[in-house]
Amino acid sequence: MVYLVEHFYSIQGEGKFVGTPSVFFRFGGCNLKCPSFGEYFVKGKIVYGCDTVRAVSRELYQKEWKEIKNAGILIDILNEYLENIDFKPHVVLTGGEPMIYAAEKSFYEFVEYLINEGFIVTVETNSTIKIDFQKFPAYRDVIFALAVKLSNCGEPYERRVNKEAIKSYIENTGFSFFKFTLDRGIIEHRALEEIVDIIEDYPEVEVFCMPLGDKIDILKKHDKAVAEFCLIYGFIYSDRLHVRLWNREKKR
Ligand code: SF4
Repeated sequence: MVYLVEHFYSIQGEGKFVGTPSVFFRFGGCNLKCPSFGEYFVKGKIVYGCDTVRAVSRELYQKEWKEIKNAGILIDILNEYLENIDFKPHVVLTGGEPMIYAAEKSFYEFVEYLINEGFIVTVETNSTIKIDFQKFPAYRDVIFALAVKLSNCGEPYERRVNKEAIKSYIENTGFSFFKFTLDRGIIEHRALEEIVDIIEDYPEVEVFCMPLGDKIDILKKHDKAVAEFCLIYGFIYSDRLHVRLWNREKKR
């Protein structure tokens, strides 16, 4: 069963398409937990985990998780946005980890529809789930934002890095790119070593580095260190423009 947590129209705030008007579909569920990525006070509880905690904790956000029984539901949502837009926006499938649904009929049929209709589709993935590109060829025309997690997420290497899956995303798609989340601590110690371990076989793939933080004050703690890191090693700095513009506002 596929779960959708939210959908909204905004600008892409991160990575290769920063600033691009996009319709976002945020799917619920993730195969990782990233316990070091944040601390949230939710319904009287302190929750540790990722910056999209509502997309990974079904228990705490039950009301927001909607079951998607067929692709038509997602297409109807998209069409509602299109009624007010005179051009083709990008479509971003994010999460959580959307690729946990890669083989689900409703999810795949939606991707197929988007590709056939000529939308530019980005899937934001932690890149740990290997996709069967032969069985699901529409994924070949998707741009994957390969947000491979580094040790600052709190997950062990074996859970957060799947080199076979990464290779398969890169070999089967045209414009996918790497996107790493960095903080001051990891930059001082081992960021370069960890990034090189992941990207070394793919010199042709763009590498974006962005600061940790889903709040402006957290972002400001790390942004300059990430920018300096990019200047030294030739990576591309990506801000989190949506955070800069709207801070923690929902659906942005
Ligand atoms: S991989 Fe992404 S969505 Fe999943 S827990 Fe980590 S930060 Fe959250």
